[in-house]
Amino acid sequence: MPTPAGSASTSTISNQANRCRAAGLDSQSRQLPAQANTEDVARLVRDLSKDTQVDGILVQHPMPSHINERHVFDSIAAGKDVDGVTTASFGAMSLGEPGFASCTPAGIMRLLDAYDVKLAGQQAVVIGRSPILGKPVGMLLLARDATVTFCHSKTADLAEAVRRADIVVAAAGRPRLIQGEWIKPGAIVIDAGYNPGNIGDVDYDAAASRARLITPVPGGVGPMTIAVLLAQTIQAALAAKAI
Ligand code: NAP
Repeated sequence: MPTPAGSASTSTISNQANRCRAAGLDSQSRQLPAQANTEDVARLVRDLSKDTQVDGILVQHPMPSHINERHVFDSIAAGKDVDGVTTASFGAMSLGEPGFASCTPAGIMRLLDAYDVKLAGQQAVVIGRSPILGKPVGMLLLARDATVTFCHSKTADLAEAVRRADIVVAAAGRPRLIQGEWIKPGAIVIDAGYNPGNIGDVDYDAAASRARLITPVPGGVGPMTIAVLLAQTIQAALAAKAI
């Protein structure tokens, strides 16, 4: 887990380490000084990519603004991209080719499947278009024949888009942005947002009275992300041994 200083809380990292330990996986953390530049981080990632003792690499993000996050992500070897953040992984996932999926989007799809949520032909509205969450979850929903609308900070009428959604995926990082009265009765609401104070992107209490299914924050999408991360790490380790 390479981490430029200040980019991730120590509690997040120790939580991930605990979850790895509980699953029987060894995890190590690498932290770089605050003045580390893009090349310093990318070099560390490349070194870890060559290290035969390492099966998977998770780069904590968001990174400090002076770091070119995309360059760092794309320094991860394809076989170790267990967080599914490289350009190659995104392309493969979008095209339905083998590879590692973005963890939170894949976790959301597992949740939807676990609750037998019908996707084909449904109107899915994704609020957020980040490369690690909004865009990939939209591509996964599209691959399952949902009709997908992406909303973002320039969307003219967010309420109107959400009102017609059978499935709402909130991934904006804005506390209680999605109001309960916008939720179509019977809709499925996935709140991937996580804001200070354990607050999601959806006004949970108001939305819960209209939704058929809704994920809580915390305890909904978050645990699915780490579950997928661990599963993909085991997959990477098994693939490396099979070579
Ligand atoms: P991000 O990179 O900051 O992207 C946020 C997206 O939301 C952007 O596309 C932005 O639009 C859009 N947005 C911001 N304000 C908006 C508004 N008022 N109306 C509509 N769209 C708006 O964030 P991220 O990394 O995708 O994370 C999003 C949230 O998910 C955060 O709360 C984060 O903590 C959480 N998260 C949770 C997990 C988990 O495991 N549960 C994992 C990853 C992230 P523009 O593109 O126009 O700027």
